[in-house]
Amino acid sequence: MDPSIPSDSHQARHGIQECNFCLKSRSEVGRLFACSGCKLALYCSPECQKAGWSFHKHVCKSIKDERSQLKEMDKLFLSASDKPQASAAVSSGAALPSVIMDEFCAFAEKFKLPLMEAGYNGLNIASDPSFSGRAVLFVLLEHAPDRAQSSRVWARFKVVHARPMTYDELRAEYGRENVQGLIDQFIWIRDLQSRVDDYVASETILLSCYCNVTSPPMPLHYPVPIGVTPAYMRAVSVSNTWEQKLKDIVEKISGRNTRDGR
Ligand SMILES: [Zn+2]
Ligand SMILES: [Zn+2]
Repeated sequence: MDPSIPSDSHQARHGIQECNFCLKSRSEVGRLFACSGCKLALYCSPECQKAGWSFHKHVCKSIKDERSQLKEMDKLFLSASDKPQASAAVSSGAALPSVIMDEFCAFAEKFKLPLMEAGYNGLNIASDPSFSGRAVLFVLLEHAPDRAQSSRVWARFKVVHARPMTYDELRAEYGRENVQGLIDQFIWIRDLQSRVDDYVASETILLSCYCNVTSPPMPLHYPVPIGVTPAYMRAVSVSNTWEQKLKDIVEKISGRNTRDGR
């Protein structure tokens, strides 16, 4: 098993992690291993990994490309003696792009079930499953000052807000050239997820955080595609206080004070 996937995590205990191809959960198959290329996609067997490769290879490559671009960006920032504000930002604790991407990944794994529930409610999947085909649940995160350097990587963020955003709104807000590649990925993953027998819906959670190393701060995005299965639907509760619930869960699990001051 890949050591980067903690088997004692909340998701693993609750069997939430699933095979990227057959979508069986860890609890069904006993164990999952990570793709050695991207370290993100999980599989239950070499057979599933092989069968899913023609689909996964594009995503795998884009994840790897993105990582190496971020590493390059890090290097530029760190070596930039002509960019005093970037060096100052790094020395005062601002996270580099590649660090934020790793934090996104840890956050998405740790909070997959609460995120899924927020998406299920925020995208109104129970009453209009088609809406989630042209919108994401946009979740703006920021580093919590008291946990910015925590060794529990997933505990460094707090949720600023979460709201549904259509693809058109994303293009308008961030510029088509910056988000169209992401949107193509959402559409393609949704198509893939819709091929399983017990398909209900797909939801995309888009984690977003500003990287303060640059001036002006640069938005970084991280998509979390979730296939909604009947088992998930039994686990979620439908409520209109989902945004506050998501914030509260993240604060509580991350060990920060809850909003009533305890
Ligand atoms: Zn499988
Ligand atoms: Zn991969």
